[in-house]
Amino acid sequence: MAHEVTLIPGDGIGPEITAAARRVVEAAGVEINWHVAEAGQDIMAEYGTPLPGNVLESIRQTGVALKGPVTTPVGSGFRSVNVTLRQALDLYVNLRPALSIPGVKSRYENIDLVIVRENTEDLYAGIEHMVGEDAAESIKIITRKASERVARFAFEYAVAHGRRKVTAVHKANIMKLSDGLFLESVRHVAESYKDIEFEDRIVDNMCMQLVQKPELYDVMVLPNLYGDIVSDLCAGLVGGLGVAPGANIGDAIAVFEPVHGSAPKYAGKNKANATATILSAALMLRYLGEGEAADRVTGGVKKVIAEGKMVTYDLGGDAGTSEMADAIIEALG
Ligand code: NAD
Repeated sequence: MAHEVTLIPGDGIGPEITAAARRVVEAAGVEINWHVAEAGQDIMAEYGTPLPGNVLESIRQTGVALKGPVTTPVGSGFRSVNVTLRQALDLYVNLRPALSIPGVKSRYENIDLVIVRENTEDLYAGIEHMVGEDAAESIKIITRKASERVARFAFEYAVAHGRRKVTAVHKANIMKLSDGLFLESVRHVAESYKDIEFEDRIVDNMCMQLVQKPELYDVMVLPNLYGDIVSDLCAGLVGGLGVAPGANIGDAIAVFEPVHGSAPKYAGKNKANATATILSAALMLRYLGEGEAADRVTGGVKKVIAEGKMVTYDLGGDAGTSEMADAIIEALG
């Protein structure tokens, strides 16, 4: 039976890379009815909002979406579509695996880390105001409920994927109440998973340790802001944003998207690397119960990157987005 999936092309390089990922998924033999829903700055003029109501409605109906990146203006303008979408659909986990792919240039080898980032609160709650004219205040919200459910996801993920350890990352030495509550919540959940090793690290030390000794770590669970920053650091360890996939997961809905943004300077140039979106689509296939197709897609990506001939500029080649997708389709076997 065909799967129903919402496809959000996004803006910037989004339309090109999601088109490439769609072609690869279809070539892997999975039947999907795509419900295309437009979001992002390009449709602001038409709908007066970057996230028209039909987008959320479509995702609520299908339960699954593949999403391209969407531009967020800095400092002023509309609120982030990504943050709004994650909060509106209660997609409380942002899952970002960082796995070395042979052939992708990096100073590191054999990186195999998983970031489980809380996705709905922290400083991303969007509660900000000016205090007079010369000061501004952002409020950091941490709740026991959100911290425990993201922790539970991290431990369940570790059990389901045969991982050995979960590390909670925080700054509870300074933010004793907010980060203290996050740490206490993860510790509490850890007590139910005696077979999984548990430890915690202060976020600044964690960044240094990841650069110096990444092999010591496995699954990490973090509040929203640290999760955002540390996952880009981990994307750097495996060779950059072009190959870093991600997923936003709730109890009944999941939205799969690359870690990177809309890279506006490459928009419409057939230059961007679609690998992160294709690997996000592979995560989606696994979520849909299409594990075999997910393996074929991942295998095709790895083969093309290992050969190093039909790869985009960021991987040292000169292939275009669509030509690299063609090569991956050929490599599916
Ligand atoms: P970015 O990830 O878009 O780009 C940073 C740089 O990384 C690019 O200039 C490019 O050199 C490289 N890059 C990124 N993706 C690439 C790809 N697929 N192939 C090749 N090179 C790639 O980050 P940014 O410039 O900070 O953000 C641009 C916009 O994207 C901003 O408006 C930001 O808010 C938004 N953004 C959206 C999402 C999302 O939709 N989930 C995530 C992050 C950033």
